[in-house]
Amino acid sequence: MALINCPACNNRVSSRAEYCSNCKAPISSKNDEATDRANERTRWNRRKRQQNYAFLAILSFVVGIGLFWKFREDQTSLGFEAGIWFAAVGFFGYAVLRIMGILNKFK
Ligand SMILES: [Zn+2]
Repeated sequence: MALINCPACNNRVSSRAEYCSNCKAPISSKNDEATDRANERTRWNRRKRQQNYAFLAILSFVVGIGLFWKFREDQTSLGFEAGIWFAAVGFFGYAVLRIMGILNKFK
């Protein structure tokens, strides 16, 4: 709970109060602040989720390169093939995430 100044009389009032306890002026910032907080939380969650996906994509890429390198002597092995797939999925997954982030299409 934050204390803000009443817009009418400058009395210190709770940001959750509907009216100033001193002059009874409506504290209109209440709804704005709640909306701001909700928007901020939504943005933060979205960013967090995007970071998680980006992390998974990078992890997939690194694991893929690792497998690719480990099984490079035997290119017919499952490990080599899996390595290529992991690296490709990670690489394109990350690219798609970046593009979505730039276009602001990420939900
Ligand atoms: Zn007041």
